[in-house]
Amino acid sequence: MRLIEKIDDMKTIIRMKKKEGISVGLVPTMGYLHEGHMSLVRASKRDNDFTVMSIFVNPKQFGAGEDFRRYPRDMQRDAKIAEDAGVDVIFAPCADEMYPHDFKTGIKISGVTDILCGKTRVGHFDGVATVVAKLFNIISPDRSYFGQKDAQQAAVIKSMVKDLNMDVDIVTCPIVREPDGLAMSSRNVYLSADERRAAVILSKALYEAEELIKNGERKKETVRDYIMRRIMSEKTAGVEYVEILDADSFKAVDILTGKIMVALAVRFGKTRLIDNIITEVDA
Ligand code: AMP
Repeated sequence: MRLIEKIDDMKTIIRMKKKEGISVGLVPTMGYLHEGHMSLVRASKRDNDFTVMSIFVNPKQFGAGEDFRRYPRDMQRDAKIAEDAGVDVIFAPCADEMYPHDFKTGIKISGVTDILCGKTRVGHFDGVATVVAKLFNIISPDRSYFGQKDAQQAAVIKSMVKDLNMDVDIVTCPIVREPDGLAMSSRNVYLSADERRAAVILSKALYEAEELIKNGERKKETVRDYIMRRIMSEKTAGVEYVEILDADSFKAVDILTGKIMVALAVRFGKTRLIDNIITEVDA
């Protein structure tokens, strides 16, 4: 495995691979790798001859007062995990390499960015889209892999690819969870022992809501209220949002039918966690 820090070096490798007719998969990450990331690597290795993982804590997707500075970083640990998983290249540029002082361009996506995380993390998805567009231009992947855990992010990237006619297939992979149900996240390391125990309520509430729906409940507000009550039974939980939407269009629904997504963002102390489930509801 090679660790590449310079854009030109990355482009040279890709040019050579493309000349050989080799297919390229890209797994964009911010590092501090866990099984969720590795599931994306496995999907990329299944579909492509050559897998690039980017590791870049992207300053443009963090708002003022967010956790950019304290975001967990450990390149040595990540390189070992990535190599063991069969990643061919880690692309890990520094911030100045990606955003030199005269950097002026930004991608702005409307609609899907106005809801859920976009409401509280203003500008976050513009930062995500901008860095992913750069990665696509540098690495020219045939396919790129995103986790369902960040469902809105995957939707934003799909919109960008469609609107800007980018030549890459976006593959979304299921959420990987800890044995007790907590969705894996690099941010889980922030949780105190008490918060970690309490955070299990998120997946529990989502699965219970799914049961409620399976048992015939069709009113969004009833399901939403149920989830809110369950989460607020944990004293340390601060709900940012609980929303129920059409899983494809991300439009709000009042009566639950078709493919729906239940999505939430909840704070435990200083740590903001997100989770979601998708469920098919009979008419
Ligand atoms: P991050 O490093 O947190 O920016 O995540 C990089 C990629 O891994 C994104 O596409 C995430 O959606 C995905 N990812 C993060 N956590 C999980 C998880 N628990 N299961 C599946 N994918 C995940």
